[in-house]
Amino acid sequence: AHLDRIAEVDGAVHAFLHVDAEGALAQAAAADERRAAGTPASALDGVPIAVKDVLATQGLPTTCGSRILEGWVPPYDATVVARLKQAGLPILGKTNMDEFAMGSSTEHSAYGPTHNPWDLDRIPGGSGGGSAAAVAAFEAPLAIGTDTGGSIRQPGAVTGTVGVKPTYGGVSRYGLVALANSLDQAGPVTRTVLDSALLHEVIGGHDPLDSTSIDQPLPSLVEAARHGAAGDLTGVRIGVVKELGGEGYQAGVLARFQESVDLMVKAGAEVVEVSCPSFVHALATYYLILPAEASSNLAKFDAMRYGLRVLPDDIENPSAEEVMRATRDAGFGDEVKRRIILGTYALSSGYYDAYYGQAQKVRTLISRDFAAAFEKADVLVSPTAPTTAFKLGEKLDDPIAMYLNDLATIPANLAGVPGISVPSGLAEEDGLPAGVQILAPALADDRLYRVGAALE
Ligand code: GLN
Repeated sequence: AHLDRIAEVDGAVHAFLHVDAEGALAQAAAADERRAAGTPASALDGVPIAVKDVLATQGLPTTCGSRILEGWVPPYDATVVARLKQAGLPILGKTNMDEFAMGSSTEHSAYGPTHNPWDLDRIPGGSGGGSAAAVAAFEAPLAIGTDTGGSIRQPGAVTGTVGVKPTYGGVSRYGLVALANSLDQAGPVTRTVLDSALLHEVIGGHDPLDSTSIDQPLPSLVEAARHGAAGDLTGVRIGVVKELGGEGYQAGVLARFQESVDLMVKAGAEVVEVSCPSFVHALATYYLILPAEASSNLAKFDAMRYGLRVLPDDIENPSAEEVMRATRDAGFGDEVKRRIILGTYALSSGYYDAYYGQAQKVRTLISRDFAAAFEKADVLVSPTAPTTAFKLGEKLDDPIAMYLNDLATIPANLAGVPGISVPSGLAEEDGLPAGVQILAPALADDRLYRVGAALE
């Protein structure tokens, strides 16, 4: 049914870069057999899933939305993908994304943008717009995204879906093509909070192949979601973050956010206002740390090891360096080049202390703000994104306007804490979905599910 739905709507939505109908049907048939024998591999055995094209999938193309990886087929599975297969989830295909996950609209994909199923003239968020759109358009019941600065949560908000960024280290990054290693986390994209909890339990937990993976059992997420769904938040302290709201946020988004807070209060929660003064520097901090890490990570695309190789046509016997230059020039898009230049600059000698070093210090201040806020509140809440989905093309030529979408989502990545975006309703002025973000202390991902499920 999902393959039929993809055939029907994906021409207009363009959520997928690659559909593996044959593979998905074979995996589904195997799941049917296990279920008939009464030995399902997991609660989600046979439930199909779409995977963001930044995770390595053995035998299936993995492009990261870039020309430079066109034609690359990884010889191994990312741990997240291996765990999906082990749990019996048929993989429908790979979803569209901003090139190397740099963006908030999926317009930076080298393969053309994804359209928001709510209004095809609008963006589905980014960088994981493909995964969110696939779930919102009923092309897939579940998807995997990755969130370095909001790329799961912000697409969730603008497509009316649920998206979770787990605690840093809670889901293995092995086989996730790194954008910024200290920020990246893969996580669930679904239509309900309970679905996210089920999926999170499949992909999460310790992995010796990732040196930053946390060697601790996951809290019981499904149980927390079931608990929350009963609608009782008695004793839960909800911290409304003063700095994440107000100016720059759309009125209809703020109105829906306030309604979500009111719902929590009705369910028995206590509301406290918290202030995180360093959050106003989060965006600037992120846009130094991220390009620094990304510029280093992208050095491996040297025309020798992976994907594209372009021979300069004006040089007869080009050197390796000349081939590398021609390949990187043709293979990377503008946003990627912009960030390589920014990151190389921030890391260069003489500037390192002033930019990268300084950003690391502010990052520590942001973590301390979280720690202080979590003394007063069990979870923090804010709108997920400042606006509903904007029109395709609207911010494409204005990088700063694009970056401002991530105002509310970035602090969590800098501090490594988990966050979920849950639909908060439609904004009155445009009838488009908005989201409420819930943040919890590191390793307390279960709180996201308890509070999130109480809102559904
Ligand atoms: N929009 C942010 C950026 O462009 C987030 C990216 C992400 O989370 N992958 O960096």
